[in-house]
Amino acid sequence: MTAPKRRIALVVGGSRGIGQATAIRLADSGFDIWLTYRSRHEAANEVKREIEKRGRVCECMAFDIADRAAVEAALRERVEKTPPYAVVFNAGVTKDNLFVWMTQEEWNDVIRVDLGGFFNIINTVLFSMLAQKQGRIVAVSSVSGQIGQAGQANYAAAKAGIIGAAKSLAREVGKRDISVNVVAPGVIETDMTADLPKDEINALIPMGRLGTPEEAAAVINFLCSENHMYIHGQVIGVNGGLSM
Ligand code: NAP
Repeated sequence: MTAPKRRIALVVGGSRGIGQATAIRLADSGFDIWLTYRSRHEAANEVKREIEKRGRVCECMAFDIADRAAVEAALRERVEKTPPYAVVFNAGVTKDNLFVWMTQEEWNDVIRVDLGGFFNIINTVLFSMLAQKQGRIVAVSSVSGQIGQAGQANYAAAKAGIIGAAKSLAREVGKRDISVNVVAPGVIETDMTADLPKDEINALIPMGRLGTPEEAAAVINFLCSENHMYIHGQVIGVNGGLSM
């Protein structure tokens, strides 16, 4: 009997929040993890330790996803040698402001990281995945990209852009047995939402509470690890009914 092939999941933005829960959940599903983050080394190392406790391998890489040269330096050779089976594009930032006050810098920074980062990562790894003729790509968008959000025009534009890009990609690569889907969380309890007025937000959510990172991770894990997958080019909301 031949040993099952080692499967790697690249989790972009895996040091905290949804990405952290996703990396650990994918390790539970048997993936070895390539975990990327920007600068919080200690948080990333903590996730690595959790993954290693599960008997899986975790390699951490720190770089800015908006910096194409840095993305290539970290990933190009690595993916040419060993293409990842699953790629979860999860990293993202917010710089909220009402449109009327929004600065060029706030607009550009969010578009460069949240949407430019998607292009930089997927464009760097895709060729190797195509050659493998199998794989899973999951991009993390947001309910803001689906229905808009006051104060988040930059973020909503980037997250809506991810949906359009992922659907286009799905049309290009489906025949290679690479499924491409989007997960659109509502309001999830992470550092990103730590300062929001929880009581006011809970009142807007049919389930009456914020989601947990693990609840988002469970859906991402399903899209990456289920063997039989006919879900393709879809946007799956994980939002407690906030948008339906
Ligand atoms: P988070 O806790 O703030 O974590 C963000 C992750 O992205 C970290 O690993 C961070 O690395 C990494 N990152 C940020 N900017 C980066 C950059 N320029 N280059 C490389 N890595 C970068 O975020 P989260 O709340 O878990 O959100 C994860 C994803 O879900 C994001 O795309 C977010 O937009 C989306 N989302 C979140 C919510 C929510 O309610 N939390 C709702 C809808 C959608 P460091 O740790 O090194 O900074």
